[in-house]
Amino acid sequence: MPNTKYLVVGSSHAALEAVQAIRMHDSEGSLTLLTRDSHLPYSPTVLPYVVSGRSAPNAVALRDDAYFTQHKVDFVRGKAVKSLHADRNAVELDDGSEIAYERLLLATGASPAIPPIEGIGSVSYHVLRTLDDATKLNAAMKQAKQAVVMGAGLVGMHAAENLVKAGVPVTIVEMAKQLTDGYFDATAAGLIEKAFTDNGAKILTGSRVVKLAPSSLGATLTLDSGATLEADLLLVATGVRANIGFLNGSGALVAHDRGILVDETMQTSAANVWAAGDVAQAKGFFSEDKVMNAILPDAAEQGRIAGQAMVGDPGLRRYPGGIPLNTYHFFGRHAISVGSSKVPEGGEVFTRFDEASGRYLKAIFLDGRLRGIYGVNEFFDGGVMCQLILRGTDLTPVKERFLAEPMKVGRELMSKLWR
Ligand SMILES: Cc1cc2nc3c(=O)[nH]c(=O)nc-3n(C[C@H](O)[C@H](O)[C@H](O)COP(=O)(O)OP(=O)(O)OC[C@H]3O[C@@H](n4cnc5c(N)ncnc54)[C@H](O)[C@@H]3O)c2cc1C
Repeated sequence: MPNTKYLVVGSSHAALEAVQAIRMHDSEGSLTLLTRDSHLPYSPTVLPYVVSGRSAPNAVALRDDAYFTQHKVDFVRGKAVKSLHADRNAVELDDGSEIAYERLLLATGASPAIPPIEGIGSVSYHVLRTLDDATKLNAAMKQAKQAVVMGAGLVGMHAAENLVKAGVPVTIVEMAKQLTDGYFDATAAGLIEKAFTDNGAKILTGSRVVKLAPSSLGATLTLDSGATLEADLLLVATGVRANIGFLNGSGALVAHDRGILVDETMQTSAANVWAAGDVAQAKGFFSEDKVMNAILPDAAEQGRIAGQAMVGDPGLRRYPGGIPLNTYHFFGRHAISVGSSKVPEGGEVFTRFDEASGRYLKAIFLDGRLRGIYGVNEFFDGGVMCQLILRGTDLTPVKERFLAEPMKVGRELMSKLWR
């Protein structure tokens, strides 16, 4: 059985950061990067651009073969881990072979969660998580006459905008009362909804698809209201689920069938096994509860910490907890949300909304310290806001200026703190 010192499973953000962190301290130890994807590593965040045709599928790689050769990484693609045998430090692959490791990182991310709707197996539908998904959606979009997007999270909204821009009539069906629920509040969602309806999309919030059936066009969707929709292109974008299927028999690593539980160094409860990124369930920043913060910056940070821990880097800084951060561009506008939307006891909320220009800002403070900030068509730097939250910077002396010009004042503050 092949044996490797470091085995990193996955080839996306968490995995690539871990590889880099490992190689910073151990340039020679055998390192295998194994992924079920057949492509060179890429970011799922480019997929909307592949769907729209703006990015060519063969031009989105984050690393090339020369990188792996130079860094002595054995990059194995097109092979999936089928099961983990943590008791004997080995993984079994889908081709029946096994790899033994000294230290293992599970950076297997997440996949689209498919809702158990009656008839879903009888119709064809798209999802958007991999480069192959994006290529297929791009091809289907060119032929489509009528599209339905199920789910108005950011993945569904990005795809819906591409469809609108391609001239395909689109209906977005969302069971929550608003679009982008969990990312933006009702005011911001209202602005996003207006941009979509102004551009011709049909929005059905508070609606649930209860049945799917094949039809002459493609599929008939029945809603909980009894109304029906027809589609020849159906995109299911109803959230994601951690890729943990290979843990059968190692179930103690997981809580409530969600993500792999990790500590502040991304170590799991199994010896020599770490997990990072969308597959991991780590400490949140606003509470001690373990949460899944399925965003790119967190995947990268967790991957780096895991790599440092695996290699025994003395410079390792423990994971401070995930802070939600989402930026979203739609029809030439942008929305951003950073931090917690909950107003804590004794907290203060500031809002500014100019309906005419569509500019909206909301900030939540506790004891003069920022907890969350949200904006539509407002300019501020998400990374800077994250740092202000993380460091608990007291904004009391500059609060008025900060609310008037969050980008400028945020940067001023950070340049002092970073010095
Ligand atoms: C369309 C889209 C747009 C997005 N936009 C944003 C954005 O604007 N901002 C943001 O912060 N986040 C965004 N995200 C989320 C972001 O992409 C993820 O949080 C991030 O990619 C997570 O990285 P990861 O390394 O944990 O896992 P993933 O990116 O999910 O990668 C998992 C890797 O593991 C591999 N794998 C899975 N199972 C196995 C197995 N059994 N064996 C071997 N390999 C396996 C996969 O092939 C893949 O290489 C977006 C996601 C999508 C889909």
